[in-house]
Amino acid sequence: MRKAGLILVLVLGCSALMMSPVASASPSLQATDTGVVASFPTSLEFTVSVEGPEPVTDARLRYTINKMNHAPVVTEAWADFEPSTSVDTSWTWDMRRSSLPPGAEITYWWWVRDAGGTVVETAPVTVRFDDDRYDWNSISSDDVTLYWYRGGQDFARIMLDICDEAIETLAADVGARVDRHIHVYIYGSAADLRGAMVYPQEWTGGVAYTHYAVVAIGIPPDDLRWGRRALRHEMTHLVVHTATFGPFGIIPTWIDEGLAMRMEGEPSPTFVNILHHSARQDELISLRTLNGPFSSDTTKAYLSYAQSLSVVDHLFEVYGRDPMHQLLELLTVGVKLDDALEQSYGKDLDGIEAEWRAALKERIQ
Ligand SMILES: [Zn+2]
Repeated sequence: MRKAGLILVLVLGCSALMMSPVASASPSLQATDTGVVASFPTSLEFTVSVEGPEPVTDARLRYTINKMNHAPVVTEAWADFEPSTSVDTSWTWDMRRSSLPPGAEITYWWWVRDAGGTVVETAPVTVRFDDDRYDWNSISSDDVTLYWYRGGQDFARIMLDICDEAIETLAADVGARVDRHIHVYIYGSAADLRGAMVYPQEWTGGVAYTHYAVVAIGIPPDDLRWGRRALRHEMTHLVVHTATFGPFGIIPTWIDEGLAMRMEGEPSPTFVNILHHSARQDELISLRTLNGPFSSDTTKAYLSYAQSLSVVDHLFEVYGRDPMHQLLELLTVGVKLDDALEQSYGKDLDGIEAEWRAALKERIQ
């Protein structure tokens, strides 16, 4: 109590001495950003310290995420605390609700108000949500920065070349390039990759975080063959999604996965066999069904991928690249699939499906 009294006297004496018309000598509301604690991939904790002459009643973290948006979005989160003239508080971003990829950039600042209605804000700060559980090396080309921690420089160079090659091939096949710098994280194994995800699926080998221009993938340096295919597959998703991004841009799954499979190279016999078998048994899935998410049933999922590849290959072989460019452009601006197909290929979805089924039948006889 004695201490509090002493401070009060000193403050009063001070303002009497200065005689200033501006009330600046009285203590003002002050907020200090005391930093961020990142625990990849599960949470980010933002902390703030506030002092003021009146009880602090409100402390909000405001932030934006550096990703593709239809409009800039500022999100606000409330820190929980008892009103007081001295507050140390925090807000924790729990990634189980909305997760971020490695390397995501967040710009944040604190907005603080006291009981008298005075408001102060801290200066904006940008932080990166890095996966610092590993010692990353990096290597860059014009379009891509690749991060890796297992394997040598040669391995990284090969991976980077695959990305650059994929970008060139896609520019020709899909008619699009990503206009942002792409960040590719090569984890040392599929298990390491799953450890970087909040809700990993058992089979996840790679992920394209298309809104962030980030690909994360698990590639052991001794499994280049698989790595090449997986990387080309995910790069395709990234480029296609970025190219068709917009308020309308919904791309049918069979086109999305068909293009990604086509980029991988020759399909494995598993896909070819299941496609041929299902065609002979008349058990193919309709393309309308494949517009939506694929079945979680393993056999049906394999067939869905195999069919998607087969249809997309057919479209390129028969019609060349131009109609695909046009189709993606039309879908991006919101033209319905049947109309977009009609305008680019001269047939609606049923027409395309009938033509493809006939060509497939002929090929497997
Ligand atoms: Zn895919």
